[in-house]
Amino acid sequence: MPRKLVVGNWKMNGSLAVNADLVSAVAAGLPCAGELPGQVDVAIAPPIVYVAQLRQLIDKKNSSLALAVQDVSAAASGAFTGDVAASMVAEFGVRYAIVGHSERRKYQGESDSLVAQKAVAAQQAGLTPIVCVGETLEERDAGRALAVVAAQVHAVLMQSELDVSRLVIAYEPVWAIGTGRTASPEQAQEIHAAIRHQLKQLSEAAANTAILYGGSMNAANAKQLLAQADIDGGLIGGAALKAQDFLAIVQAAQ
Ligand code: PEP
Repeated sequence: MPRKLVVGNWKMNGSLAVNADLVSAVAAGLPCAGELPGQVDVAIAPPIVYVAQLRQLIDKKNSSLALAVQDVSAAASGAFTGDVAASMVAEFGVRYAIVGHSERRKYQGESDSLVAQKAVAAQQAGLTPIVCVGETLEERDAGRALAVVAAQVHAVLMQSELDVSRLVIAYEPVWAIGTGRTASPEQAQEIHAAIRHQLKQLSEAAANTAILYGGSMNAANAKQLLAQADIDGGLIGGAALKAQDFLAIVQAAQ
């Protein structure tokens, strides 16, 4: 069974002052680095410009809290104005890179194939990609949720350079993100089980890939969602901006 993982996606929120307060409060509720680790790995994904600030703060507190980024370039370097390479964030001790978040698929037009290339680029720099997949409401209503998610996962798994033992998948139904409308534990489990099956068909190592749920997970609904057999953690948006709520979700994952 994969280790549980809870990741806070801060999206485009924060400031030097707000980040300092939030990370102090989150770190205070987690084990120190080098202490016996808890049952759950915990990471935060701030806006990229704050990675250096948060690296310093986390190190100063000797916290076990890991860093993630919200996106990376599919390219290693070069003429890609505004992009950031995975190797650059790796220099700051970043452990995970979220790729293919539905907001990037929607607003930046990212395709399944670009997302898959980003996952490979993240791994090549030593990061663990967290690949987001999920159907829209129209797709769910048309009975296509399983097929849409399977195609998104397939695009990543068919990359020959991909190391499936260093991969995280996050199932985030688009209709549940930031809407306050959560997938029921049964709805989420159905998709997670299908993703697990798809991974297992590839290899035994892939069966150990953590599959996170994301979409309006909060302190009140986390326990039930995380109790499902194939839900290995959470990707948390809104609730990650309040330390108390975020830590309650981490607690629910224990
Ligand atoms: C997300 O953006 O990944 C997310 C799950 O957001 P929220 O928890 O706010 O729905």
